[in-house]
Amino acid sequence: MVPETINNYERVTLSRTARLAWRGWTKACPRCGARGLFMRWFTMRRQCPRCELAFEREEGYWTGAMGANIIMTELVFVSLMILTFVLTWPDPPVRDMIIGSVLFTVLFPMFFYPFSKTIWMSFDHAFNPADAPTEDSD
Ligand SMILES: [Zn+2]
Repeated sequence: MVPETINNYERVTLSRTARLAWRGWTKACPRCGARGLFMRWFTMRRQCPRCELAFEREEGYWTGAMGANIIMTELVFVSLMILTFVLTWPDPPVRDMIIGSVLFTVLFPMFFYPFSKTIWMSFDHAFNPADAPTEDSD
């Protein structure tokens, strides 16, 4: 099955939003759904191997991916802390929780790094499609 290309002028629908979200969470190109966007875990290609979508659209573009990574790390971290407190109350293992917290907040962002980039690209593609006309073009 050939993945469906997301048209830049396609109406915003639940289906389109779900496709973009899926592509973001599965490290796929937001425009064509191609895989293999990363050469290594931390090394992303400059453009999509299928549709040639340029990934870094402008200087500072990946700030959004950093934000997505921080937000996801904090959400998972707080959820795990609350869950640990609830499951171990009234005697939570504070020492183990501190050690686990340090390890988690160092390791999880590294694990989530490529996902944060493709999630950010999908989010950006939803609101600012790559081929949309700019103010400079006609
Ligand atoms: Zn593509």
